[in-house]
Amino acid sequence: MFSIRTRIVVASSVVFALILVALSAGILRSFENASVAALDAQMQRCATALEAELEEQISEGVYPQLHDLRSVIPPEIPRARFCMVDSLGGVTATDSLVASLPMAAWHSVRSEGLPPGILAIGTTSYRSIWVPVDVEDGDRFIMHIIAPLTDVESATGRLRTVVLLAVPLALLLLGIATSLIIRRAFAPITGIIATANRINARDLSDRIPQGRNNDELAALTRTLNAMIERLQSAFAAQKQFIADLSHEYRTPLTILRSELEFALARFDDPQARESLRLGCSEVDRLKRMTDDLLLLTRLDSTEQMLIRAPVRLDELLAESCRRLAGLAAEKAIRLNLQIEDICEIRGDEDRLQRAIANLLENALKYSPKETTVTLRLRTVAAHIEIGIADQGNGIPPDDLPFIFDRFRRGALARTEVPGAGLGLSIVRRIVELHGGRVRVESHPGQGSTFFIEFPLQTPS
Ligand code: ADP
Repeated sequence: MFSIRTRIVVASSVVFALILVALSAGILRSFENASVAALDAQMQRCATALEAELEEQISEGVYPQLHDLRSVIPPEIPRARFCMVDSLGGVTATDSLVASLPMAAWHSVRSEGLPPGILAIGTTSYRSIWVPVDVEDGDRFIMHIIAPLTDVESATGRLRTVVLLAVPLALLLLGIATSLIIRRAFAPITGIIATANRINARDLSDRIPQGRNNDELAALTRTLNAMIERLQSAFAAQKQFIADLSHEYRTPLTILRSELEFALARFDDPQARESLRLGCSEVDRLKRMTDDLLLLTRLDSTEQMLIRAPVRLDELLAESCRRLAGLAAEKAIRLNLQIEDICEIRGDEDRLQRAIANLLENALKYSPKETTVTLRLRTVAAHIEIGIADQGNGIPPDDLPFIFDRFRRGALARTEVPGAGLGLSIVRRIVELHGGRVRVESHPGQGSTFFIEFPLQTPS
């Protein structure tokens, strides 16, 4: 689709072109008409002069002389030719050019004459008029005067050439001017788009810069800024609510957990013990969820919370394996740690530990018994890569685009594996806060590999 700028330039050029073409055609037509009218007036003066000369010659009893008649032709139309026929149809005086015209025409105009018209002789067009001339003795002559239209045609041709050059030039200039004006007018929109792209749910502190003009775009900017302001307040209130709620839930959940354990130690009835155990695991799940929510809102709120210190990623991976060795042993899953490069980044060790633990827990959670989970650390091109690969069922392609979103769980996980759908969102947030990115490659039936990539940092 074409940009708004292109569309405005094209539309205005088309409209302008139509107006110019209509205007030019009108001007050319008027110019031609005016030139022909001027020629008609000259021919009329010529006719009057010829008439006066003819009357004078006849009153002197002289038979009309071509030479004398010709001498009265006005100098403005030196190329005018004429022919005179008396009332009996006899040619009185004629120019050879006019004499060659068909005589039949004379009879039709003998009494009235004819209004000015156009006559073609050979390849040349002539303006022609027929004028009846009544002389003193009551005799009537018909005078036919023609004048070539070549001067009118060449003047019109010159004007047409000027118009043909001027119209495209005017269109080009209009196109350039419109394009420049629109570019200037739209420049603030580029700023609005850039800022709007920067603003997201996590950071609504940015504002669209207010231009100097007080125009429609300034009004749009004010409206958008006011909207972002309201969104910021709404998001802040929502985050605060979640943080408060998670915080308030923690103590009662801890108390509930210890009360359930206390009761469990005192009951012998197997059914009651099973119910209490189930209660304990549900409380654990709820507690884990509130902890995750609290962590996410904290990670969202500000970046400054991170402690920045050198962290050895190889040691971090080894520690994660140690911590989750028990969970792996429960399912007889082999943990295979491959350290190809010793890597260090500046970051928050606890948070990074949490991100890797989440991925490793998922790998164990979503893998069948007696399989292998591989953790690999290496440098690839300009980044450090941590890969955690399992031999589980993989993630269906339909679920892949959403698994890093909050509270999103895969179709299989929803029915078979406990969880809240917050683990991967925490991983992504922690990795992003460290300037990295997380991605997944998964083949249903073959397993999934989650990759964390950090840019290689030059030691300071
Ligand atoms: P949870 O595990 O609590 O559901 P997560 O945010 O950790 O939440 O994961 C989101 C979803 O991604 C899971 O519900 C599951 O469908 C899918 N998933 C994550 N890790 C794996 C894995 N290693 N193998 C298969 N599916 C996975």
